[in-house]
Amino acid sequence: MSTAPDEGNIVSLDRRYVWHPFTPFSVWLDENYEPTVVVEGRGCILEDSQGKEYIDGNSSIWVNLHGHRNPRIDRAIRSQLRKISHSSFLGLTNELAPVLAEKLVDFCRPSGASNTEDFPSRVFFSDDGSTAIETAIKLVVQHFSMNGHEERCKFVSLGRGYHGDTVGAMSVSHSDGFHGHYKRLQFASAQAMMPYCYRCPYNRAGPGRNDARCRRQCDFECVEEFRKAVEMCGDSFAGTVIEPMVQGAAGMVMHPKGYLSAVSEITKRAGGKIILDEVLTGFFRTGRPLAFHSEDCRPDLICLAKGLTAGYLPLAATLVKADIVDSFMGGPDKTFYHGHSYSGNQLGCAAALENLRILTHPRFANGLRQKIILLERLSKKFWDLENVGDVRQTGLILAIEIVRFRETGERFDPDLRTGWQISEAAKEHGLLTRPIGDVLLIMPPLVATKRQLNECVVRLHETIRSHFAKSSV
Ligand SMILES: *Cc1c(COP(=O)(O)O)cnc(C)c1O
Repeated sequence: MSTAPDEGNIVSLDRRYVWHPFTPFSVWLDENYEPTVVVEGRGCILEDSQGKEYIDGNSSIWVNLHGHRNPRIDRAIRSQLRKISHSSFLGLTNELAPVLAEKLVDFCRPSGASNTEDFPSRVFFSDDGSTAIETAIKLVVQHFSMNGHEERCKFVSLGRGYHGDTVGAMSVSHSDGFHGHYKRLQFASAQAMMPYCYRCPYNRAGPGRNDARCRRQCDFECVEEFRKAVEMCGDSFAGTVIEPMVQGAAGMVMHPKGYLSAVSEITKRAGGKIILDEVLTGFFRTGRPLAFHSEDCRPDLICLAKGLTAGYLPLAATLVKADIVDSFMGGPDKTFYHGHSYSGNQLGCAAALENLRILTHPRFANGLRQKIILLERLSKKFWDLENVGDVRQTGLILAIEIVRFRETGERFDPDLRTGWQISEAAKEHGLLTRPIGDVLLIMPPLVATKRQLNECVVRLHETIRSHFAKSSV
């Protein structure tokens, strides 16, 4: 272990000076709560200041694809350090960003696509998921404005969709729990119901012991609801902002097959642009290069962040289709006056390029497929726990929804913070993860071994079992 500064001192400095994202002070500052201080990582394993080891069960908030201290990415960054770490991208370029841009355009196009013009082909770099979304929204609004359609400025997005925490990204998100205080700052956007088969008011299928998407009985009313939301926008409809296939922060809500194709078609017919938020789903998280590759969808813009540098550095990209780019061809009056200090940062680009080299090696997709099949099989184990209401899995995302009663799907009182209690207890079993409400997650790095996948499932299963065994005595 490296020489870590005194741990007690770190925690007291932290408690005194630091403000953590999405973390209630009441918990963090509680004397009885012991914050975990991460000091090292190796592959899928994280080690804390006490020398305790954990499996990184949520890929360090969904970003880490190839484990920690991946030798290839480490090397790529080190060798870039010997040349230059950062130079401005405003009116200058560098040796890496254009190469990365070309590779991203290729990576994002579905493999069978014949007409490359049908897919985004130019890349705007920024820092994180929120800025990638802000960029996309502003590009679409300016595009319409420069084409004489100032009225087209209203977006449709899904209930409990999450696209980031900057004001524009908040405005197209619908997570009141996170963003309620800022309603006055936000611009108006239309909300369509999220296709959440497990809790869908239109789903006539009762509770069962398999993924609610598979036994849904409905007439795809969610698509109809989406159509209505678009119609309500009328002439002001600018486009759709959507997390394809999986709504992450909503609780890993997984969409039924065909939904994305259907809403894409509706968006196109109404003259709107499709902004895909692949911030979480991109880079093989769902088993394919991008999640939308499994549906018939032609996005106008694609937002990438989280996995882009495999959890090494903050870098994001917004990919844009040629017809939108064309409206910006011209002088100062046609310019996109938007940018970020770290746009095109060389270290980030070096990490991303190596990430793509690893991901596009044919062996990678094959190995991943095996793991996905294994995780799907392992996921069935959770159904023997009475407080499990839904188990859903796509790629290397497994979500376990904890309920009070399986028969009714009734939730626990949120004040009990059941999901949080369970994931805190999972630490004791050597599994680090972070719940969304009462939805527990297993989302390890894509390089997790089969043994580690099995361990994640065994450890979480045991933690849930003993949590309820304890609370029922
Ligand atoms: C995390 C996330 C964002 C925001 O990304 P940041 O890098 O945290 O700004 C946007 N969209 C989705 C789907 C995300 O999961």
